Amino acid sequence: SKLTKEDVLKLAKEYDVQFIRLQFTDIFGILKNVAITVEQLEKALEGELMFDGSSIDGFARIEESDMYLRPDPSTFVIFPWRPQQGAVARLICDVYNPDGTPFAGCPRHALKKVLAEAREMGYTMNVGPEAEFFLFQTDEKGRPTLITHDRAGYFDLTPVDLGENARRDIVLTLQQMGFQVEASHHEVAPGQHEIDFKYDEALATADKIVTFRYVVRTLAQRHGLHATFMPKPIVGINGSGMHCNQSLFEGDRNAFYDPEGKLELSQTAYYYIGGLIKHIKAMTAITNPTVNSYKRLVPGYEAPVYIAWSARNRSPLIRIPARRGLGTRVELRNPDPSSNPYLAIAVMLKAGLDGIKHKIEPPPPTDRNIYQMSPAERSELGIDSLPENLAAALDYLEKDEVIKSALGPHIYQRFMEAKRREWDEYRIQVHQWEIEQYLTKF
Ligand code: GLU
Ligand code: MG
Ligand code: MG
Repeated sequence: SKLTKEDVLKLAKEYDVQFIRLQFTDIFGILKNVAITVEQLEKALEGELMFDGSSIDGFARIEESDMYLRPDPSTFVIFPWRPQQGAVARLICDVYNPDGTPFAGCPRHALKKVLAEAREMGYTMNVGPEAEFFLFQTDEKGRPTLITHDRAGYFDLTPVDLGENARRDIVLTLQQMGFQVEASHHEVAPGQHEIDFKYDEALATADKIVTFRYVVRTLAQRHGLHATFMPKPIVGINGSGMHCNQSLFEGDRNAFYDPEGKLELSQTAYYYIGGLIKHIKAMTAITNPTVNSYKRLVPGYEAPVYIAWSARNRSPLIRIPARRGLGTRVELRNPDPSSNPYLAIAVMLKAGLDGIKHKIEPPPPTDRNIYQMSPAERSELGIDSLPENLAAALDYLEKDEVIKSALGPHIYQRFMEAKRREWDEYRIQVHQWEIEQYLTKF
């Protein structure tokens, strides 16, 4: 059962909470905090606390800057790593305009809108993310390096695996905060880790991803490490993805499961996959939103490059894990953990719903390793590629009205402006690679 305002007030007293952080994210998914004392909690829960939205990236202009935070009581959590006396808790908030309408720049609201559309069609959505990250050592000044604990281990006389210790601490902390951690393991690359928590309803999962990133970074710091969700920190080894397992439910029934269907998948599942494939190029701007995101989406590192799906192998963009029954799901593999989880889930769901509404059939599955196909074979099978860089993805987003409508005009415009600027800034840099290639050659 979900916590109510009354529960929150009672818990705050019981656990001697002194400070509450009111949290929300900007359009890029960066966590923002307004700290209040427990005396203000009741007022805050009534949604009466105001803040200046013009100071938040992509939020509002100076003229329209007064915003109100409405905490969602079900997100109340006490930070386990803070003192037991004078504890610190947090609440995740929705952002509202002074006139009481939801603020159009609030990503949580954007997701809620698409979820409402799904509800009208009879669906709820579950999402289970697989967020990967790197743990790097910090130097004597506490600045992050690109040195991983594994590699440092080779030179260490007393090989203490800082990374494994940090990960254990992260998992224990997440559990104290109510996460059901299903798996936690070292990933393929040195210094790379993955922690999977149990799927949940879409909005709760988006909240959890934001919390997860915060906990991982905070706890890593306490172990003298730097955690990064940057998609591709090091060339030549795997990058970090955030595969998203997703399913629609009709009441208690998994709408993707049909024991009679081909591969035991329902027609709904096929249309959902069709919708994802139709809109994937535009969605990529949201699920892979940084210049660096596209350095991950290259052949050879278990990240998707080609637009295809399969129930068998892992090279395609969409994989259907073997589980059937309630666990039937579609795993989308291109999203990365630098994305705004609210917006990423909003566009995935929007694309899937569009597939269902317009009965979009997906292409046949591709069960061969696509990495090993020649360009001619791929083109014969009609297998297209994901956008090669951020600029290309933004061009696709610009042309996709369905995906734009999931964001709403406010978020779309500000996101587009900021990302075009990001690309332009990157575009004019002279890269170390160019110096090495050309400086002495010409
Ligand atoms: N790190 C890979 C990626 O970039 C995924 C590895 C895996 O299959 O878990 O998506
Ligand atoms: Mg993984
Ligand atoms: Mg996976």
